[in-house]
Amino acid sequence: MSTTTELTAAQYAHGSAPSRGRGLPAAPSRTLLAPLSVTASRLADDGFWGLRARINADATLGHCLAWQERAGWLGNFDRAAAGTLPAGRAGREFSDSEAYKLLEAYCWEQATHPSDELEAVIVALIDRVGAAQEADGYLNTNFGRDGQQPRYSDLEWGHELYNYGHLLQAAVARLRTHGPDRLLEIATGVADHVVRTFGADGIQSVCGHAEIEVGLLEFGRVTGNSAYRDQAELFLQRRGHGVLSDIEWGRSYFQDDIPIREAEVFRGHAVRALYLAAAAVDLAVETGDADLLATLERQWERTVATRTYITGGMGSHHQDEAFGEDFVLPSDRAYCESCAGIASIMVSWRLLLATGNVRYADLIERTLFNILATAPSADGRSFFYSNTLHRRTPGETPEEREQSKRADSSQRAPWFDVSCCPNNIARTFASLGAYVATVSVEGAQLHQYAAGAIEVELPERGVVGLAVATRYPDDGVIAVTVTATPDEQWSLDLRVPAWAAHARVQVNDEAPTVVEPGYARVSRRFAVGDTVLLTLPLDVRVVGADARIDAIQNSVAFEVGPVVYCLESVDLPAGSHVDDFVLDTDARVDAVDGALHVTGWLERVPASPWPYAAAAATPERTPTQTRLVPYHSWAERGPGTMRVWVRR
Ligand SMILES: [Zn+2]
Repeated sequence: MSTTTELTAAQYAHGSAPSRGRGLPAAPSRTLLAPLSVTASRLADDGFWGLRARINADATLGHCLAWQERAGWLGNFDRAAAGTLPAGRAGREFSDSEAYKLLEAYCWEQATHPSDELEAVIVALIDRVGAAQEADGYLNTNFGRDGQQPRYSDLEWGHELYNYGHLLQAAVARLRTHGPDRLLEIATGVADHVVRTFGADGIQSVCGHAEIEVGLLEFGRVTGNSAYRDQAELFLQRRGHGVLSDIEWGRSYFQDDIPIREAEVFRGHAVRALYLAAAAVDLAVETGDADLLATLERQWERTVATRTYITGGMGSHHQDEAFGEDFVLPSDRAYCESCAGIASIMVSWRLLLATGNVRYADLIERTLFNILATAPSADGRSFFYSNTLHRRTPGETPEEREQSKRADSSQRAPWFDVSCCPNNIARTFASLGAYVATVSVEGAQLHQYAAGAIEVELPERGVVGLAVATRYPDDGVIAVTVTATPDEQWSLDLRVPAWAAHARVQVNDEAPTVVEPGYARVSRRFAVGDTVLLTLPLDVRVVGADARIDAIQNSVAFEVGPVVYCLESVDLPAGSHVDDFVLDTDARVDAVDGALHVTGWLERVPASPWPYAAAAATPERTPTQTRLVPYHSWAERGPGTMRVWVRR
């Protein structure tokens, strides 16, 4: 993509879709690739992603709303407005942010599937939030009143600015899908208050949890007010100089140990690190700071090479929800918070727009299919907070009306004391169409393959319409039919994932050509009805791990296309544990109806009082056949044990 010319702000402003205006979760003012609005790219209801987006709309949104009501988190705003706080305040110090994330989700959904019911929910949420705002713009239900801690007295853990970041992102969604209303006034009040309070002459510190930065940058883009960008830049400059207190896990937990320009890898609390990185990419793009962008690219590269699970999951520490050191990627201690997966997509998306490098779209795909698709249950009403790769104990199914205490509960839970993940999942699915494709001055690029339709105006050329028909990832054939085209030559770029050797592209009935991983470009004067057929090879890939990832030596994992597979105990003889199964690596692997059939043995190791010896005890072996299922579908058949990395 190195030949692609950078789009200018004027080209962004031209045309309807890739403008700074409508329907964009992130809208940088200058990038190589321009994102599409949530309405320009529609997911078909029966495709892999469209189906999940519908479940999100029909089940998850209402589920999250009902739980926030039941848990009293929405009631906190009413109590603040009534002046009765702190009596009766419910939830943790960051519970306000869950209302904002859910509000954002509703705004995206209302843009793609408008209804009076959705609008009523949005307006009611905005009214309740707004009623709690104080005259100077401050808005928080947990600080500042008699009987509460003073405002900004606990920047390490208080999350006041973090909450604002999510409020600003909700306001961006509302503004870009509806237009100015009360939420813009509320958000402007908050953002101006932040600038006054934390500006050059204000409190010289940052929030323990990054998020205000990415919120301010996007709010600055949508309002055109550079003061918000400048404030985000101040926050980014301050962090890394020990402005927050030291804690038991060190200042790296808040990324306050090293300035962002000097860091070599993402570290500390994974969600914080990734939200911060997303903001840093935004700042680099807005200010034309090539050095900062290159620094973030290097940090991403090393993080992916040494600190990322095969699922795309990030974070191997439970106690501080943090990245481990390089190659500390044990399957059974994988934390891989769902929010970290979403934050990773946010970083990669911004880097993809800025650089056009296919590796970012590849990681987004891996994370989408193996974290975002895994976290919610098939019915959209329970969620994984952490996404382990090895479950040693079957655990229990949480009670339907119980708020789970444990982020790493063994099964998906309907709600958590800390419920960042369900609401984050909701807003991501509601805006998912926006991550499928982009446009540039050369043409359109398809990064993710989802059945649906795209209609977008190419800068200075005219409208391009594409219909995408595919059963991907169950099938490797993606048919892209041109439904509208300018009367001149343009280019269609199709992503060929790094795993796809010998992919083929065929235009209409012309001879197919083999294409290499990267972007396969078809340039021509297209006609309506032209079809470009991309065929990706869905061979079973059996992969091992770098020798430095000690915990999974002598194991292999299975992948088909972007999907990672796993072994569940429910597919072994009754009473067996997944750790008992040893794969016959010489045997055939047959893919049948979405499962991989494999052969091996069940091992029974004689009981021993001490598990260490010069020579291993000889186990008793019974030949066994079993099957592996997509990781995203695991834990839908009751409590059980599970492994992604299968012993061999
Ligand atoms: Zn979370």
